[in-house]
Amino acid sequence: MAYSKYTLLAAAIAAAASSAFAAAPDTDRHQPQVDKIVGEISAQRIESNIRKLVSFKTRHTMSETESDTVGIGAARRWIKSEMERCGAGRLQVAFDSHIAPVSARISRPTEVVNVVATLPGAQAESKDRVYVVSGHYDSRNSDIMDAKNDAPGANDDASGTAAVMEMACVMAKYKFDATLVFMAVAGEEQGLLGARHYAEQAKAKGVNIAGMFTNDIIGSSHDEHGNSNGKSVRLFAEGLPVEKETSETTRMLVSTGGENDSLSRQLARHVKEQGERYVPGFKVNVIQRRDRYLRGGDHMPFLEKGYAALRFTEPAEDFSHQHQNLRTENGKVYGDLPEFDDFNYIAQVARVNAAALATLANAPAAPAKVQVRTKELENDTAFVWQANKEPDIAGYRIVWRESGAADWQASLFVGNVTDAKISLSKDNFFFGIQAIDKDGNASPASYPTPLR
Ligand SMILES: [Zn+2]
Repeated sequence: MAYSKYTLLAAAIAAAASSAFAAAPDTDRHQPQVDKIVGEISAQRIESNIRKLVSFKTRHTMSETESDTVGIGAARRWIKSEMERCGAGRLQVAFDSHIAPVSARISRPTEVVNVVATLPGAQAESKDRVYVVSGHYDSRNSDIMDAKNDAPGANDDASGTAAVMEMACVMAKYKFDATLVFMAVAGEEQGLLGARHYAEQAKAKGVNIAGMFTNDIIGSSHDEHGNSNGKSVRLFAEGLPVEKETSETTRMLVSTGGENDSLSRQLARHVKEQGERYVPGFKVNVIQRRDRYLRGGDHMPFLEKGYAALRFTEPAEDFSHQHQNLRTENGKVYGDLPEFDDFNYIAQVARVNAAALATLANAPAAPAKVQVRTKELENDTAFVWQANKEPDIAGYRIVWRESGAADWQASLFVGNVTDAKISLSKDNFFFGIQAIDKDGNASPASYPTPLR
């Protein structure tokens, strides 16, 4: 955590209280397993996966499914066989299929198939907590209904698909407390069909998806002017959801000024902190909006079901290389071809994803039922929360920031307790409570709701 002016204040509070609190685990240390994973992610394998995906000519959701070399059917069988091969004995790989009915972007009932690779969690108390990472393997060209002509989709979104496959293959060799799901999704371009089906099923079954990332258009560090920024990625994070009727959760956030403390924003803070820790020199630029103007992605159906979900996208898109027929006009090449991808850049984004996923899946769950006592009018802030159930919990810490700040500015470890008080005003700062395990893994923060 990049503490600024609150470092001294936090230290003073901790020193004053040190008799009451146990020693804090080192939450700033690098976990050796995460360093290994980040080091093993290969730009060469990502490139080779992208070139193979492009070789299927088109991966349009309504394209050919019988051929072994052309169309979306061949593509998904290849993705599945690759993840089965590299994750043998560890990854559970399956098709998740449904028939999409006729709609604005589906001209005949069409089978939409996600490829889902699950790495089950190793800790009994955590394996029901799931993190999903996806890319969409379907592609398109200028005409959204054109299922015949070439649509290489090297950036949109072979880049995300290849990154997810690489993460699955590398991370399958390691153990995590919580469950990881690596998913290649179809039907994104036709209306987020595969992701919506998965999110709806998960919600109906009560699956605890504690975080979801989609990687969509992470292929290039160049904008249309040729400027390159290979050292950052955009991470789109929703604040308040778009709802026809305001839910109780949203009402509580609005009434307490918590619009920057939604589940997705807390998740984004974790991704930024851990991604930047494990991928030095690379910036995770959290964009405080759901997605780009009037555009969407596979995180949205998860958001609609109340899950925390984020979108990774390159820093500046070159729109002549997405959703375009292959052609040359006045000497300019249009189309989503591999020569416009930057494989080293994609590998960096995959490393950020992997660091975030690994740290989330080895950390405890974010504390539940975090509340701030409001019965007494006072300038101190008293919290109460529910104990976590993981056996390796070391304790909890309070994190805070000034009202205008985006990221946590300070923290105070308070030991293995379920209530704590800090001599800072709840009205002047934004607080969160994190659970910390004995290895120093910190959960995302939970926002305190008022306890009347
Ligand atoms: Zn896309």
